Amino acid sequence: MQQTLSIIKPDATQRQLVGEILARLEQNGFRIVAIKMVQLNQEQAEGFYIEHREKPFFARLIEFMCSAPIVVAVLEKQNAVQDYRTLIGATDPKNAAEGTLRKEFAIDGRQNSLHGSDSIENAAREIAYFFADSEIF
Ligand code: ATP
Repeated sequence: MQQTLSIIKPDATQRQLVGEILARLEQNGFRIVAIKMVQLNQEQAEGFYIEHREKPFFARLIEFMCSAPIVVAVLEKQNAVQDYRTLIGATDPKNAAEGTLRKEFAIDGRQNSLHGSDSIENAAREIAYFFADSEIF
């Protein structure tokens, strides 16, 4: 079964949306097979978002991701990577389709409530970044 990495970002944990978002993930057929709350330091956030290091928004993204605790989870489902990206919607809620989680919960294109792996290869890297095999059920 395919797995993807989900992050509930600081804007959502601070607005007490964790329970509502996790319920929506389960209702949409994703099985939570690992989960934890962490507060990233700068080095951890930079390592996670290494592929964006040249982007103009990188510094503000890192600052945002370290600003409060996040909830990191491994989700399992057939076609999990693509289906989760479809469920969360476009990066900026202004462009996100009706019914997507970012349309409903995101504040703007940076404080967009959720992260999801964008490929099967990145999912494997991102899952290993946060979880040991023994923590995934
Ligand atoms: P994610 O990788 O978090 O799932 P994504 O793939 O939709 O999001 P990316 O283009 O990979 O979007 O950007 C990573 C994250 O960087 C975004 O989710 C958002 O938090 C932030 N970000 C992206 N574009 C901007 C921008 N123009 N201004 C500020 N922050 C941005």
